[in-house]
Amino acid sequence: MQRRTFIAGAGAATAALGARSAWAKPEHKWKMVTTWPKNFPGLGTGAENLAKLIGEMSGGRIQVKVYGAGELVPAFEIFDAVSRGTAEMGHGSAYYWKGKSEIAQIFSTVPFGLTAQEMNGWMYHGGGLELWTELYAGFGLVPAPAGNTGVQMGGWFNKEINSVADLQGLKMRIPGLGGEVLKRAGGTPVNLPGGELFTALQSGAIDATEWVGPYNDLAFGLYKAAKYYYYPGWHEPGTILEAMINKDVYESLPADLQSIVMNACKVVNQDMLAEYTARNPAALETLVSQHDVELRKFPDGVLAKLRTLSNEVVAELAGQDAFSQKTFASYQKFLKQAKAWSGISELTYLQARDRLDQQTDDQA
Ligand code: CA
Repeated sequence: MQRRTFIAGAGAATAALGARSAWAKPEHKWKMVTTWPKNFPGLGTGAENLAKLIGEMSGGRIQVKVYGAGELVPAFEIFDAVSRGTAEMGHGSAYYWKGKSEIAQIFSTVPFGLTAQEMNGWMYHGGGLELWTELYAGFGLVPAPAGNTGVQMGGWFNKEINSVADLQGLKMRIPGLGGEVLKRAGGTPVNLPGGELFTALQSGAIDATEWVGPYNDLAFGLYKAAKYYYYPGWHEPGTILEAMINKDVYESLPADLQSIVMNACKVVNQDMLAEYTARNPAALETLVSQHDVELRKFPDGVLAKLRTLSNEVVAELAGQDAFSQKTFASYQKFLKQAKAWSGISELTYLQARDRLDQQTDDQA
């Protein structure tokens, strides 16, 4: 509703401008490099939407051209490219940059950590974004949340996972902290950009992969290369996609354009989650009913082991340096409070809705 109202407003403003004159000549021509295939549903289109919004909201004063992974720089080189100013902005996710900073992963997602709604609470009203801004300043970047996938799926496997022993020797594409957890469970985590997943899985270069959720996984055709589709995505309970802007470029903007860039990111951050919420159900239905995908829930024993290992991995993040300690403490404090509130709000409500639906179905 908010977005529709906003777009209607922007459209009217554009029409009014158009009636008087053409859009302003671009004062800033930006390149946005991304870790996604160009126009990939949700992620790539989110980057495109962000570019379009910045253009519309600024009346054409900032013009942003989006480059898919590999078009200007490879997927995992966008951080450096924006940092050194080869591109003015980028769109990716912070856990891809653990080679630069281990604690950066906390600004993406944490296994068994905050959900999308809670993550946004921490970012905008719980100190998360201030900490992220402080970290990225050291790399000459300004970050902003610019999309969220919600709870992801556990991934695609060609064998059933019935116990922790089934994870032994498993070569799986799984980024970030979740990858480290899998490693400690006896598996071999691999990080690959999205565009390389299908081929890697089909050729047997990897045994299993996670990607995002039904909407995105259907688009990549991952069901053609694996039989079992596991849930829940314990490793990515509400992943934030990031926008990063070269700090010098951002600071050279007048205040109104800075506000436009940040608020465009905020719009896309909410809109992407809404899109996933709307598209995942139908995509899951298609996967199961048209492509015979077998849905499986991770056994409780496997989740319990992964949870124990996750606690170890996440706690180690705090030990890196003073900044990591401060950030970890902020996240943990927020998580504790969020769990207490979610436990009596979202969780209790969803459980009641689910249970009462089942009772109604039984009676019917
Ligand atoms: Ca994922």
